[in-house]
Formats: sequence, structure tokens, C-alpha cells
Amino acid sequence: MRIGVIGVQGAVAEHVEALRRALANMGIHGGVAWIRRLDQLKDVSALVIPGGESTTISKLMCKNGLFDEVKRLGGEGLPIMGTCAGLIVLAKRVVGAASGQRFLELLDVEVQRNAYGRQVDSFEAPITLSFSPDPFPGIFIRAPRILKVYGRARPIAFYREEVVGVEQDNLLGLTFHPELSNDTRVHEYFIEKAK
Ligand code: GLN
Repeated sequence: MRIGVIGVQGAVAEHVEALRRALANMGIHGGVAWIRRLDQLKDVSALVIPGGESTTISKLMCKNGLFDEVKRLGGEGLPIMGTCAGLIVLAKRVVGAASGQRFLELLDVEVQRNAYGRQVDSFEAPITLSFSPDPFPGIFIRAPRILKVYGRARPIAFYREEVVGVEQDNLLGLTFHPELSNDTRVHEYFIEKAK
């Protein structure tokens, strides 16, 4: 198995590490690669779009020729997980988009960028996962908020009453950063999709 992390900007190394630990925990032989160019997308079994700055990530994905191919692969069923800025890049509807900012428009959600006030723009709180009984350490950094889940998307992660993660067939979108905790349950759940 070869998993790619879109490596143009943001928390790339942290995802690479988390994916390696998850693969080891699952006893799966596989490699994890930074993806910066189009030819590196060949033969990936799954892709992660990390947190960072969604305007920069989408701009650089366009510049490097990755944008259209990632959109095509996601539409064809390649497993893709977007965290924080990565969720914004995957979304169909974005409130607070920068002018000219492009989105992959794959995930049936409406998200709002930088949705938590300045006072609490970053925080850590236990969240609930639909696929695991124990709480998960949710790390939120200038996080977006999921305002609407519609179509084929289903909620899978909750902070209090709020939806902070969704799944839609081959796609996962999270407002928090699972790569910044030592807990690999979310990455393992994602890797299951690529098996
Ligand atoms: N605020 C960022 C954006 O809108 C996302 C923050 C993050 O990925 N930690 O792109």
C-alpha cells in the first residue's frame, strides 16, 4: 500500500508520521510519500490533504498540476482524508472563502472558515467518534465549522452536539487535527478504506 500526503504546505510531516504509526499498528506493509508533483500521484492507494492554510494549499495544488487530478481521483473513489484546511479544500460549499479560492467540491458539506472566535481560535477537547467507544483528543487550530451535512455525507465525529467529522463513501473530512495527537485510531479507520 502506498499512501500519499499532499505536501505543498501545512502539517505534512505530522501526517506522514501518524500514517506510518497507524500502518505499523495494523501490521500493514506500506509506504507513505509526500506528494508535490503530478507524477507522484501515480499508484497511490489513498491520499491525505493536511491542515494548514486552505487558500495556499489549493493555490499550490493548482500551480503544481495536482488539483484537477486529485478531484478526478476522488470522484472515482480514491480514499481521501482532509483535515482542517484539507476539509475546506474537499468541501462543496465554503463560507468565508478568499476571492478566487478553488475547492475540490467533492464532499457534501457546507463549512465556515475560521469559525471559532478569536478568544478560542485554538483549543483541545475530547470528541466522540462513531466508530470507537473511547473519547478522542480533538485538537482544533483556527478550525472551520461544519454548518451543514447533506447528500451522501454522514457525521462520524462530534464535539458536544456539534459535528466535527464526516464520512462520504471514500472521503473523510475532519475539522480537527488527528495527526497532532499520538492516537492513531482516525488514521487507522481511514487506512481501512484503502485495503
Ligand atoms: N484557518 C485555516 C484555513 O482556513 C485552517 C486552519 C488549519 O488547517 N489548522 O485554511
